[in-house]
Amino acid sequence: MAPAAVPFRSVRFSAEHEQFRASVRAFVAREINPCVDEWEAAGVFPAHDLFARLGAAGFLGLEYDPGDGGQGADHGYTLVLGEELGGIDANGVAMAISVQTDMATPSLARFGTPALKARYLAPACRGEAVAAIAVTEPDAGSDVAGLRTRAVRDGDEWVLNGTKLYITNGTQADWLCLLARTSEEGGHRGMSQIVVPTDRPGVTVSRKLDKLGNRCSDTAELAFVDVRVPVANTIGEIGRGFQQQMAQFQNERMIACYIAWGQMHRALDRTAEHLKHRRAFGEPLIANQHLQYELASLAAEVEALRQVNHGCADSYLAGEDTTRLATVAKLLAGRLNRRVADTCLQFHGGLGYMEETWTARYLRDARLLGIGGGADEVMLRTLARLDGFTP
Ligand SMILES: Cc1cc2nc3c(=O)[nH]c(=O)nc-3n(C[C@H](O)[C@H](O)[C@H](O)COP(=O)(O)OP(=O)(O)OC[C@H]3O[C@@H](n4cnc5c(N)ncnc54)[C@H](O)[C@@H]3O)c2cc1C
Repeated sequence: MAPAAVPFRSVRFSAEHEQFRASVRAFVAREINPCVDEWEAAGVFPAHDLFARLGAAGFLGLEYDPGDGGQGADHGYTLVLGEELGGIDANGVAMAISVQTDMATPSLARFGTPALKARYLAPACRGEAVAAIAVTEPDAGSDVAGLRTRAVRDGDEWVLNGTKLYITNGTQADWLCLLARTSEEGGHRGMSQIVVPTDRPGVTVSRKLDKLGNRCSDTAELAFVDVRVPVANTIGEIGRGFQQQMAQFQNERMIACYIAWGQMHRALDRTAEHLKHRRAFGEPLIANQHLQYELASLAAEVEALRQVNHGCADSYLAGEDTTRLATVAKLLAGRLNRRVADTCLQFHGGLGYMEETWTARYLRDARLLGIGGGADEVMLRTLARLDGFTP
């Protein structure tokens, strides 16, 4: 197993990181959690309103250059942000925020021209503009190299045609970080990332999708018919879009795993609390050794995930390639979140199956992590290749 030998490290938080943690936690408790039941019932949350408040609090664009509207903070703050977003009572909101901060904007911050960043990144950091990442298509999900959306150059403009599917923030987004084919080379060659403003003629929301979970997050199918976008909206190098998106996926996977840790840690605490108060067979349920051991066993795995997350964050802070650790974390987190959600529901009994109890929504929401942002099997495919388990 050649490249596995990344020495173990973890992030040491400063007093400032801890202050930041307290601010995010207070924001979630005060401005998000009281509203999520209403947003879940509505099937959408008010992205512009919430993002403007998150932007004013300085929570969006943490690591981006202050000249581009960011906070100039280190990746430790992103780790803290993710862990605390795990305290949101609906993953749909946490996911939507992380699309804005770590899925739709990293490439623009890394490779965008100053003019493009001023026009699109700075408003996203202020929360005045909602961003979305548009990669997946009806015929290209796991296999990104199969995508068909095409941008053909006409003078200083791209003319864009195609369809994007399952786009988070899709009905509310002001602009998309969109991956399209810009040459005939085929496969993973000849793609480019393009900022596509959604108010351009020819961009339409063809469907708002109904989902098992993450119900307050708007997920859409988007259609593009002869959409004209300046070539100057290309992020980075024309033809390098696939490679840039693969790097952006690492940020996506890291924050998703930071959030998942927060969710699982909280879910185990809440379940233990319930078992301390619920009595059966003459004693609190928590007195049952089977329940204690199941919780302890899951807590050990959740702690192990946190160590991988922190090792990955530390590696990122050191400017190293985090592909392997982010892939390990994503595989572990996707699988573990399902088991934690199922066990927490089980230990709540009939109450756990009721919509009024947090466990029901958590079970639905937790199912996504093993699919979105690269399915478990795609993580295994990457690991098998990196570790030399291939012919
Ligand atoms: C709620 C939600 C939000 C999303 N948000 C976004 C977004 O904002 N932007 C965006 O671009 N995309 C988004 N996606 C898309 C998501 O990233 C894809 O669904 C995911 O990458 C899987 O692609 P697919 O659905 O086409 O599955 P497919 O590619 O059809 O794969 C189906 C299944 O086949 C298996 N499989 C696939 N490849 C392999 C393999 N090599 N070996 C073995 N088994 C394999 C896996 O079990 C996989 O789940 C979202 C999806 C959902 C459900």
